[in-house]
Amino acid sequence: MSTFVTQSSLPSLEEYMEEIRPIFDSKWITNMGPVYKKMQHQLIEYLDVPELSLFVNGHMALEMGLQTFDFPAGSEVITTPYTFVSTTHAITRQNLVPVFCDINPDDYTMDASKIEELITDKTVAIMPVHVYGNLCDVEKIQEIADRHGLKVLYDGAHAFGVKYKGVGVGNFGDMCMYSFHATKVFNTIEGGAIAFKDKKYQMRLHELKNFGIHEEDCVMDVGGNAKMDEFRAAMGICNLRHVDENIAKRKAIAEKYDELLGVVDGIRIQSVRDGVKTNYAYYPVYIDSAAFGENRDSVYKRLEESDIHARRYFYPASNDLDCYRTRMHVQETPVAHDTSLNILCLPIYPNLAIEEVEHICDIVRNGR
Ligand SMILES: *Cc1c(COP(=O)(O)O)cnc(C)c1O
Repeated sequence: MSTFVTQSSLPSLEEYMEEIRPIFDSKWITNMGPVYKKMQHQLIEYLDVPELSLFVNGHMALEMGLQTFDFPAGSEVITTPYTFVSTTHAITRQNLVPVFCDINPDDYTMDASKIEELITDKTVAIMPVHVYGNLCDVEKIQEIADRHGLKVLYDGAHAFGVKYKGVGVGNFGDMCMYSFHATKVFNTIEGGAIAFKDKKYQMRLHELKNFGIHEEDCVMDVGGNAKMDEFRAAMGICNLRHVDENIAKRKAIAEKYDELLGVVDGIRIQSVRDGVKTNYAYYPVYIDSAAFGENRDSVYKRLEESDIHARRYFYPASNDLDCYRTRMHVQETPVAHDTSLNILCLPIYPNLAIEEVEHICDIVRNGR
């Protein structure tokens, strides 16, 4: 049987049917109905955030989060190249310019000590990523943002349920995006959200995701369509019931990997910032080919030959992609570039058997 890097979490069919029955009765299937509101309130509580707006996916949530700030076209947003392309695309598609800041070599989040040298008179915001559910240096980033009058929008696509010093990650920065895509720790099939503190963003986000419609005959904004529908919200309500149990299963898998791979020369496991309660969303290993005697792609191929599908994620880094490299000036980020060439995310999902984890580690170690 094939093993993939992830497997989507689903409730039982019966549980989902029970949850969607009222939608069939009411015929209210989208446009922020009762199921949307129920899930929104449950998530505000679970994620421990002040306000939350639900979206059709995480990408549109990022775009509309940016749009809310009304930055002039051509303004610069300092971001990380070590991310999924969505982050960089969201900035570019909002007519803003991504400026790439390098990352820390141990936790792969933005290197906050390199932000200030990238600030110009066009800089308006910082958009870092909580990579693999590990938290950015939120304190230092906020201090820089405050000093220079910049907004901070976190891409927290990986950070569902992550806490820092007992507080939900969505409390840091002006906004934090979550993704509820099928491959994430918690899914609504496709889906996403923006958490925010300032109530002034509430109505704006609500209207932007509904074509900018303010009232029946009044359209205030050039919005789009990015509403989460009732069926996806129902999937979220079901999946939320099981998410703690699923994170506990992920933890057991991550600890087995730590035990079997953490001791191998040339394999580096991700370090987690003090005070972070992580969600074990991914299991990245950095393969130092000089010490390990073999490079990342070779390990990746060996796993493929055993029908185990790991993922080179994130690879390539955004500033190495054709759509950016050939079109604009990109800042060189040697640590992100190196990490993208040497990282491998190993399979991790709640139903992955511990024996399979041992088998995967055997193949990775290859007699080492
Ligand atoms: C998944 C992901 C996104 C996009 O979220 P979608 O819900 O798939 O649109 C953005 N950024 C990162 C880092 C992601 O992993």
